[in-house]
Amino acid sequence: MPAERSFFETVQDELKECAESMQLNDSVLALLSNPVRELHVIFPVAMDDGKTEMFHGYRVQYNDARGPTKGGTRFHPAETIDTLRALASLMTWKCAVMDLPLGGAKGGVICDTKKLSRAELERVSRGYIRAIAQIIAPDKDVPAPDMYTNPQVMAWMIDEYSRMQGKNQFGIITGKPHDLGGSHGRTDATARGGMYTVREAAGVIGLDLKGATVAVQGYGNSGYYAARLAKELFGSKIVAVSDSRGGIYNEKGLDPEAVLAHKEETGTVVGFPGASPVSNDEILELDVDVIAPSALEKAITSENQGRIKAKIVAELANGPTTPNAEKALHERGVHVIPDFLCNAGGVTVSYFEMVQNFYLHYWDEAEVHEKLDKKISKAYHDVVRVSRERNVTMRQAGYVLAVERVMDAMRYRGWI
Ligand code: NAD
Repeated sequence: MPAERSFFETVQDELKECAESMQLNDSVLALLSNPVRELHVIFPVAMDDGKTEMFHGYRVQYNDARGPTKGGTRFHPAETIDTLRALASLMTWKCAVMDLPLGGAKGGVICDTKKLSRAELERVSRGYIRAIAQIIAPDKDVPAPDMYTNPQVMAWMIDEYSRMQGKNQFGIITGKPHDLGGSHGRTDATARGGMYTVREAAGVIGLDLKGATVAVQGYGNSGYYAARLAKELFGSKIVAVSDSRGGIYNEKGLDPEAVLAHKEETGTVVGFPGASPVSNDEILELDVDVIAPSALEKAITSENQGRIKAKIVAELANGPTTPNAEKALHERGVHVIPDFLCNAGGVTVSYFEMVQNFYLHYWDEAEVHEKLDKKISKAYHDVVRVSRERNVTMRQAGYVLAVERVMDAMRYRGWI
């Protein structure tokens, strides 16, 4: 049996498929298929019991042809360089699709935050940023929060980096607390950007979002705000939501705030009064207008795509639809808004944060929303145009657009 392709190999396969349609030569493909730079560090951390433990950390800078690299920092016990390479690659294409003047990166530390005390977590955060300090800078590579890291972790890292530089360097990291130069509008940016693309998609396919039915798989940061904004911005009806323990359905519509309050009290959306249970598989197959997979990879595969009835699939999660399933959905006329476009609101507002930090001039929330809307709506229509011109799926169109933009930068710079 052939070995299963790793995450990074899968991402490389997707790029290769796109390269074939663009007739890229082998040396260009080799450059685009691998990170330009990666750092592996081992750093000591004093633990509360008096012992010293060694931690492994990484920073992958995938491609910086278009500008400083950008990407989150993950703290995870099963972190691998393979995952970080894959995610750094996706960040490169995401920034290019959005036409941000940035490249892609990703970093991480192998550690289990649930087993660390607060003081140990602070020392790991400071140790990591000290160890990678030589390859990052506000105009070079800018980390952000990601899995199991948060604004507090970012704040410790900023403090440590600022001490090393002998001056405040708030621009070294985005996704930080507002008092340290964080941007307004970052908390719901991913979902908000996703909902702006849903609005544009509805215009393209002729769907009236007022009263349209929506199902959301995953009720975390992305899923909750997606449900709330679909109701607030469009007057859509949220008929089903789910989390890792299962889902709930009410054809009359759910109140996203009340569901969140129930989840905060009980730990799950399951058991919300007045709703009937629905499984995490069934939620994607409901007869609704929009589904927003906002939890896991590979939620829609060749096996279940035939049962998807929605007109729009808004990929707020990373990689929720497999490439073959997406092709089949495309042929059936289901409009898939691919992850690197649909969930790009987060990195876009992070980019706005960088700009505000450079200028020391801060925008209010309304200004952030307006700029995000303009940027992501334009990116959505760029991808639709390429999809129609080449008769390819929205994901393939996004790849083509992104790769063309990165290649143009590399060509001007004389790299290829
Ligand atoms: P989160 O941890 O806040 O929420 C995840 C939610 O998914 C939780 O409610 C969890 O219970 C639920 N979940 C877990 N397993 C599930 C399962 N098997 N079925 C249904 N639900 C399940 O995470 P998040 O920040 O909302 O991220 C969700 C997805 O969005 C991830 O793929 C992430 O990479 C992607 N994403 C998030 C951001 C962001 O800014 N938050 C940006 C880009 C992409």
